[in-house]
Amino acid sequence: MKTADVLVIGAGPCGLFQVFELGLLGLNAIVVEALEQPGGQCAELYPQKPIFDIPAIPEISGAELTQNLLRQIAPFDAQFCFGERIEQLEARGERFWLRGSLGSEFDVAAVVIAAGAGAFKPVRLKLEGIEALEGQQLFYSVRDRAAFAGKDLVIFGGGDSALDWVMALETAARSLVLVHRSERFRAQPALVEQMRELCHQGRMRFVAGRASDYRCVGGGLSAIELTDSDGKAQWQAADSLLVFFGMVPDAGPVKLWGLAMEANQLRVDTERFETSLPGVFAVGDINTYPGKKKLILSGFHEAALAAFAIKARLEPGKKVQLQYTTTSPLLRRRLGID
Ligand code: FAD
Repeated sequence: MKTADVLVIGAGPCGLFQVFELGLLGLNAIVVEALEQPGGQCAELYPQKPIFDIPAIPEISGAELTQNLLRQIAPFDAQFCFGERIEQLEARGERFWLRGSLGSEFDVAAVVIAAGAGAFKPVRLKLEGIEALEGQQLFYSVRDRAAFAGKDLVIFGGGDSALDWVMALETAARSLVLVHRSERFRAQPALVEQMRELCHQGRMRFVAGRASDYRCVGGGLSAIELTDSDGKAQWQAADSLLVFFGMVPDAGPVKLWGLAMEANQLRVDTERFETSLPGVFAVGDINTYPGKKKLILSGFHEAALAAFAIKARLEPGKKVQLQYTTTSPLLRRRLGID
């Protein structure tokens, strides 16, 4: 059982900044994120696009914003659990019990839901029954690259992730085929160039097409049928599939926790950003209130007020002092400056 003062669901920009605001008030946090990396929509949907409306930062990419937030919260040493989505949330007395998709259990004094548009999950390969191979021979992320050594590997996708893993696994795999629906790639041109060079050297193959069927021998995947853009099918020996078709958010679990919602958003008040369950707060794109705007800067403001409300809840009867980071010795100590 993992414990902390507060569990933050989601490591998007608002979840990350929540850690900062909690840390300033002396509260520690566990952050649980369905993706393998932090940044939420900024990292997953538009890492290289510039954002122009973060106060005092005229221009910053989604990836840089995420890196800056991670640097800013580093002094507070939050525990991160990546690749796990929170599925259950229950009030138990004054505390909260949560359970993740990998079986982790958490016991915390307060919860902040910073779930954005929902937990990101991979777009899956659409072949009947192939989900039975997930985690054995079909993967949507790489946890252990050694698992692909000596394998007949087929990688699907045309973005940076697919091409990055082509480069990373090409020497380890016994054979490697990249499959993408067309000759046009979303990945950086330099990566595409490298991939074409590997094909030219005969070290791998590229097929412009899609998976149309698969064959198992003794319960295990042995081959996959690839159909090219002209409709011509060919069988390819395959015992491992890596699929990078992108991620889509799934509002899923949040809806099951019995919290008051309005059009898929959690209803909160604008003083504490608390949901209908006292002790459970919501910040960022997941919440709604009159005048709500789904902007990162709104989420940052919400995180600050939620942190004050959580502090007051955990230390009833004590006034939560507003202090400035410029002048407060306590805040400077917490930030590791003095
Ligand atoms: P998200 O960024 O959505 O992050 C939520 C995270 O929570 C996700 O990573 C998700 O996987 C995780 N999660 C959800 N449920 C669970 C669960 N049950 N367990 C574990 N993890 C979970 N905003 C601006 O202010 N300026 C802009 O210029 C701007 N440009 C944009 C451009 C595009 C193309 C898009 C799509 C959005 C843009 N936005 C912009 C909006 C901005 O990205 C969002 O407002 C912001 O990302 C919301 O942050 P968040 O932390 O609330 O949620």
